[in-house]
Amino acid sequence: MKYEHAIVKFKGDVGVLLCNGCGVVIAEGKKHEDREHYGAMCMSGNCKAKFKKGK
Ligand SMILES: [Zn+2]
Repeated sequence: MKYEHAIVKFKGDVGVLLCNGCGVVIAEGKKHEDREHYGAMCMSGNCKAKFKKGK
């Protein structure tokens, strides 16, 4: 599966879902929704780390 909006890194078979804001790990699993995901810190605007997209 290819993701266009979600940031997912694959560890073998398992996709690790990362925050679109800072890159913190949100979830692991085989399937994730292809949309932007943000961790609790980014949701509340308190995230200190800024993750740079490779685009
Ligand atoms: Zn974040």
